[in-house]
This record gives sequence, C-alpha cells and structure tokens, in this order.
Amino acid sequence: MSERPPITLRDLAAIDVAQLRGVGDKKRTALAAFDVHNVLDLVTNYPRRWVDRTNEARIADLVPGEEALVLVTVRTVTKRMTRNRRTMVNVQVGDGSGRMHVVFFNQPWRERQLKEGLQIALYGKPDTYRGGLQMANPIVDLIGDRTGRIVPIYPQSEKVQLTTWEVASFVEEALRRCAERGIADPVPVEVTDRLDLMARGQAFASIHAPESMREKEAARRRLAFDELLRVQLVLVLRKRELERTSRGIAHEVDGELVQRFLEALPYPLTGAQRRAIAQIEVDLATPQPMHRLLQGDVGAGKTVVAVSTLLAAVQGGHQGALMAPTEVLAEQHATGVRELLGELRVPDPGNLFGDRPLRVELLTNRVTGAERKDVLAGLADGRVDIAIGTHALIQEGVEFSSLGAVVVDEQHRFGVEQRAALRDKSGGHVPDVLVMTATPIPRTAAMTVYGDLDVSVLDELPPGRTPIVTKWANGPMLEAEVWADVRHEVGEGRQAYVVCPLIDESEKLEVASAEETFQRLSNDELKGLRLGLLHGRLTPAEKEMTMSLFRSGQLDVLVATTVIEVGVDVPNATVMVILDADRFGIAQLHQLRGRVGRGSHESMCWLVTQEHDGGNPRVEALVASTDGFELAEVDLDLRGEGTLMSTMQKGRSDLKLASLRRDRQLVAKAREAAFEIVDADPGLEQHPVLLDELDLLFTDEDEDFLAKS
Ligand code: ADP
Ligand code: MG
Repeated sequence: MSERPPITLRDLAAIDVAQLRGVGDKKRTALAAFDVHNVLDLVTNYPRRWVDRTNEARIADLVPGEEALVLVTVRTVTKRMTRNRRTMVNVQVGDGSGRMHVVFFNQPWRERQLKEGLQIALYGKPDTYRGGLQMANPIVDLIGDRTGRIVPIYPQSEKVQLTTWEVASFVEEALRRCAERGIADPVPVEVTDRLDLMARGQAFASIHAPESMREKEAARRRLAFDELLRVQLVLVLRKRELERTSRGIAHEVDGELVQRFLEALPYPLTGAQRRAIAQIEVDLATPQPMHRLLQGDVGAGKTVVAVSTLLAAVQGGHQGALMAPTEVLAEQHATGVRELLGELRVPDPGNLFGDRPLRVELLTNRVTGAERKDVLAGLADGRVDIAIGTHALIQEGVEFSSLGAVVVDEQHRFGVEQRAALRDKSGGHVPDVLVMTATPIPRTAAMTVYGDLDVSVLDELPPGRTPIVTKWANGPMLEAEVWADVRHEVGEGRQAYVVCPLIDESEKLEVASAEETFQRLSNDELKGLRLGLLHGRLTPAEKEMTMSLFRSGQLDVLVATTVIEVGVDVPNATVMVILDADRFGIAQLHQLRGRVGRGSHESMCWLVTQEHDGGNPRVEALVASTDGFELAEVDLDLRGEGTLMSTMQKGRSDLKLASLRRDRQLVAKAREAAFEIVDADPGLEQHPVLLDELDLLFTDEDEDFLAKS
C-alpha cells in the first residue's frame, strides 16, 4: 500500500458535505445556510461556545444572585401576554435534584423551541420568586444527548432545522475519516516548537471535542495563529514583492533645503518628530520606494514631517505632492504649507542669483481655466516643486516632470490602484509614499490592517499644550453648568464650539437639528453672545465666511455639525461642547476634542448626554484619557475588531478564531514568523502547502481589501 500524504486544507475543500454519513439533501441545504458547503467549511465552523459540564451546578445547589450553569430537562412550557403587551414564556425545568422556574420575556419563539423532555443547558443568574428559584432570560443551549465533559455548541437554527448535536456528529465523522492520513501541518516546525503550538490535526480534534477547557484553549491558540500567519504571509509577500520589483529614487537626504527649512522653524522639533524624520530619511535614501504610515494624534505636528519629506525630494531636483481627501482640506493644507515654507528658495543654475523661490501650487477640480493650464505646465516641466491637491493630482492629464515623494493625508482612499497610477505619472519609478493618519490604531491592529506598510508614530505632543479637561454633563442639571462655562470663557475673551447631534441617516435631519440648536442657544442659553452656524449644506463661500469670522474673533461661538471635525485650527477656542456625545464613537469624539487645546490657554471639553443611569464606557474613556493611542485600545476592547476588520470578514480569510484584541501577542508572533519564512524563501518554494493555502483562502476580494492598506 502506497503511503498517501497527509490531507491538506485544499483536499478538505474538495469534499462536499453530502459525502458525509447523515448529510442528505435537507441537511446539506441547512448547512449551506451557515456557509458550510465542503468539509473544510465544516471543520472550520467552530463551536461558538463550549459547555463545561464539570462546572455545572445542580438546581439544589444554586445560590440566588450567583451566575451558574445547570443542565436540565424541560417539563412544561406555557406562553401568555403580560399586561403591557409583552410575551412571556414560562418554562418549568428539573434535574433530579430539584425544580426551577424559567421565564423568557419577548422571546415568543421559545415556546416552539423548548419541547417537553428536551435536555438543555441554562446559564444565568437565579433569583427567588414566590418562594422558589427562577431564572429570567438565561442563555439557552440545546445539547441533545451528547456525552463528554465538554459539549461544543455550534451555531444552530430553528428555521433550517439544524441542531448543534447534528453538526457535532458531522464534524466527528469528518475528522474520523481524516485520521488515517492525518491532517497536513505546513507551518515550519521551528515555528510551532518555538511558540509551543500543538499540531494542526490535533488542534482540529481538540477544538471540536476537547477533554478540558485548557485543551480547547490550546487548540484555539494554534488555529488562531494559522489564521493570523496566513494574513501576515500575504502582506509580507506583497511588501517584499513591491520592494523587489519597484524602482524608486535614492533621494539626497543630506541636502541643504531640508536643513534650512528645519532651522527656520520657530520651535525645536519634538523627539517624536525627529525620530519620524530620521526613519523617513533612511527610507528615502534607499533606491526602494518608501511606503510608510505616519500615525500621530491631532496636533502632534505631522505637517512638519510631511513637508520635510516633500523637501527631501525637491532638493534632489524632484517634485513633491501632498494629497488630501477633500478640496477644503487641500486648500487649508496649501495655505498652511505655504506659511510654513516662508521665503524658502531652491537652487536654480539657470537663474542669475543661482536660486529661485520654491513654488507651491494648489490643484483641485476648482482650479480651472488659464490657472489650471499654468499649473499643469509647471508640473510637467518641473517648475512647480510641490503640488497640493485632491485625487485630481493623479488624474488623467496631470503629468509630473519627476515626482519623487507623495504624502497622503488620511489613508482611507489610497490603495494599490492609486499607487500604480502614481508610478505611471512619474517616469517609470515609484515615488516614495508617506501616508498620514490622525486616527491612532493599536499596534497589532496596524500590523494587520496596514501590514505592508512600515509605521512611524508621533507619540509626543509639542510642549506647552495645556491638557484638555474633559467633563461629562449627564442630564439637564449639569448641562446648565456647560453653558455657564461657555459664557465665562467668552467673557475672558475666548471662543467655543458647539457640536450638534450626529444623525447618521440623513444630512437633512442633521442640518435641521443644527439649525434648531442654533436658534435655541441664540434665544436662550447663550443669548447675547455672537453665534455662527456651520453645516454641510452651506455653500463653500458661506462656510468660508463663517469660518473667517470665527477665526478673526468676530464670532464667540461656532455651532456646527461634524464638518468641523477636520482641519479647523483656532487657538483662541478653548471650549468644546459635544451634544448627544453618546452618539459618537470614541475616535470621533477624540478628533472633535482635538479642535481645542491648540493655544496656551487651558481648554475644556464638555460631553453632554441625556440623563443616563449607570455608566457610559465611551464617554467615561474620553473623560479619563487624552491619549489617542490609549483610547484606540479602549475602543478596540469595547467594539471588538468588528468595524476595523469588517471588510475583511466578508471574505473567506475571515478571522474566525483570532481576535486582534485578545491575541495581540499572537499577531506580533505571526508577523515575525511570516518575515522569517518569506525572507528565507521568498517564493515559498519550500512551503508548497502553505502557498497553496494562501491561494485557496484569499479570494480576489480579500486581496483587494488587503491591497487597500
Ligand atoms: P497634526 O497635523 O499632526 O494634527 P499640525 O502639524 O497641524 O498637527 O501641528 C499642530 C500645531 O502644532 C501647529 O500649530 C504647529 O505649528 C505646531 N507644532 C508642530 N510641531 C511643533 C513643535 N515641535 N513645537 C511646537 N509646536 C509645534
Ligand atoms: Mg494636520
């Protein structure tokens, strides 16, 4: 008998579930409803919970007020309506040691689900009710007649009639049939040994039918590592491929221009700015194109770093481009950068004096006619040194003489296509790219979401900022204090922002609510002060008018929707009031708060909510910390990685087990292992099974998503 090689994930993916005993047409359709079509889908359809029978209590031992797990049999089920039109399903259960009453509110379907005689696991907090024990709305798992100390609970569905014990038996059969050949483990043994990871075949067996919760956890760790390693391999392969195949410019980083610029700044660089500039210069000096992410909180001073990057290209005779997500931001950047550059001149041998003024031009879709023609001509022949604009910069019809460095402000819409477009614009070489973001991302998340970028962090604010004091106005009583604060600050010559409630569904409603707030404050709480209103429905001219009145101090209070989130810089504004703060996410609140605290006066931020009983973790996090990175961690903890990874979860490369939050260390280990594997074997020729897995598990869609990073 010839020895057959161990079974790979690709082999498993080729076996239809219908080939398993017990899976007929009906169950096949039911499994399909959970996206389980083949045996690979089945064995990676992990339990969503495990019931540990060794932890189970007897009804007789239950203590009111203490959460517990009990395994019981259903005795009777009845349903009725309560006086306030809620359904109430009453269930009597027992376990030989005693009886208990279970009540479900607003879960009418429990009546159909819980049949007399059914074995169920209940997890909840018992209390006493009419002399007996009762659990209200406990977690219910139907466990059937499974034996074993740990019972896996699979996603199941009434509708398609698939029970957890059926799924368990299909998985069991599938794994039994794999046992003879074994399941291939393509991860190098040095890696699994070093990280103390169990073999992959064992991990599949242990996650579905563990003997103990510890064994289950070890299995989860192994399989989660595999998921993370695959993501990292794709990213690292791409990074190395880009480095190998793209020709960049080896910039002249010791030139005079950057030095003169930095020396002319009215302040010394922060340590973090110096570190970031040094890291960038190392990248710029090599012939491989840079692809780096610059993370820095609002106000951390990213602009200086960006400009020094652009000037490094300019001083070698190339050009720089700064791309912003919107025209308004591009215009603001143009103003800011011009101011920062002052009277800087660039060498020009053709000129009588040997130099000429540095030329910075704005290019957006609003720049038209003769002006546009002039800018385009200057970009093409090299007379324009720095172009600032939107995506218009990389559109048809825009040619650069030699584009050497590109800074992209806010990463979201800048992906592989844009990078390719840049290459086409710059005479065959790929310009160095620096992507800036003010949304701090926890390190491990950045490793996954921006895995083919190098990362620099500005984790230090320029000195002299007085920290922003943040307070929570929980309900109308405290809100009065908010307006008193605003009046007080205005009395001292300061200014304030009031951010109106966020209304996701409709800009129209949002504008209406902003107008209403403006009216109310003008007539009542802030009567007598000079108020301005800013929202998305105003024309650019109207917006600019209001902004410039506020900037010049002719308005005391700016009532606005979130249009002020980015790019507004008025150092004299010291109060930020955010209404209905609980409607905003942590990152957004943090961005908004960053609009104050920009000058030397002490600033405050009021987070106003309707009266809450109990806590509000997001608002409380903002009150507790002004550190964007710390808040990003809290955010990840509160939300899970859902939002961060949502696009990715659509694909097959789904992180089913791995959690960027729980598995921070594993992410770092997987990244390290991916570099190790790829750098020793750039084509993964020694690892055909691993390579094939990437092929199998990463659809084009996933690739696209990862490419966007
Ligand atoms: P970011 O873009 O990171 O939000 P900016 O580049 O707009 O921050 O800088 C915010 C403010 O800090 C600007 O007013 C800028 O002049 C100032 N600034 C930047 N770097 C320093 C520094 N090293 N020392 C003092 N002030 C600085
Ligand atoms: Mg900025």
